[in-house]
Amino acid sequence: MLTRFLRPTSGPSSGGEAPYAHVFNAQGVDVSHGVILYLEDVAVSFDGFKALQGLSLSIDDGELRCIIGPNGAGKTTMMDCITGKTRPDSGSIFFGQSMDLTQMNEPEIASAGIGRKFQKPTIFEQHTVFDNLELARKQDKRVRKSLTATLTTEAGDQIGQTMARIGLAGHADRLAGTLSHGQKQWLEIGMLLMQGPRLLLLDEPVAGMTDDETERTAELFLSLAGEHSLIVVEHDMAFVASIARTVTVLHEGSVLAEGSLEKVQNDQRVVEVYLGR
Ligand code: ADP
Ligand code: MG
Repeated sequence: MLTRFLRPTSGPSSGGEAPYAHVFNAQGVDVSHGVILYLEDVAVSFDGFKALQGLSLSIDDGELRCIIGPNGAGKTTMMDCITGKTRPDSGSIFFGQSMDLTQMNEPEIASAGIGRKFQKPTIFEQHTVFDNLELARKQDKRVRKSLTATLTTEAGDQIGQTMARIGLAGHADRLAGTLSHGQKQWLEIGMLLMQGPRLLLLDEPVAGMTDDETERTAELFLSLAGEHSLIVVEHDMAFVASIARTVTVLHEGSVLAEGSLEKVQNDQRVVEVYLGR
C-alpha cells in the first residue's frame, strides 16, 4: 500500500511537466497524489492493551470523512496519534506526501496545518467573540510596523468572514461566555479556521447540541469540505447521515468496514459489533 501511495503521479502529463512534480498547498503540504493523510499499520498499546493495531487509513485532500465505531474502538487514540499527543509504537502516519507526523511534536503538527477540536470548547469566556477570533489568528512576527494598518484591515476581513461562516455574524461584541453551547462550539471551530488549517479533526462535535444547532453544524461542515479536509468522529447517526460521504468503522483498534453509510450499515460485521455492545 505504501508503494502505491508513493508512486509518482501517473496519467497524461502536459507539455514537459516533470513526472515527480510536487504540488504544495499553502502550508507546504505536498498533496500531489490527492492524499492529505495516510496511516499505515499503526499500533498503540497502553500497558499491553492494544488500543490500535494494524490501523491503515487514507484521507483525500478536501474530503469529509466520518469515523464511527463503538466506545473503546480507538477513535480518540487515532486522533491523538495524528496530532502528536500519543506516539504510535509502530506504523507510519504521513501528512501529504512528505511530512512524517510520527517524527513531529504537537506544536509542529499544529503549525503544519492540522487543527483539532476537543469536546469541551477552549474559548476565552471573558472575551468577546471578535477578540477570541483575533487571539486565534496566526501572528506573523516578521511583519514590519508600516504594514500594520493594511494587515489590520485584512485581519478584520478574515474575522468578519469567519463570524459569518460560523453563524455568529452580528455577535462580534458578545462575551463568549454568554453564547449557547452550540455557538461556543462554532466559535471554537472559527478559532481553528483562523489558523488556516488544511485538516480539521473533530471529536463528537454535535454532542449536547440542539437539533437546530446540529443541523447548522452539518451545513457548516459541508461548506468547509473541499476547502479543508475534515475527519469527524460522531455517535449521532442522524448527523452522520446528513454529512457522510465515506464512513470508516473502527473496531478494536483497526478498520472493520469502509464505504457509504448505507454500505457499512448493511455490513453484517458492523451490525454485530453494534448489537454486541
Ligand atoms: P474511542 O474514542 O473509540 O471510544 P479510545 O481511543 O478513547 O476509544 O480508547 C480505546 C481504548 O484504549 C479504550 O479501551 C481505552 O480505555 C484505552 N485507552 C485510551 N487511552 C488510554 C490511556 N491513556 N491509558 C490507558 N488506556 C487508554
Ligand atoms: Mg473517543
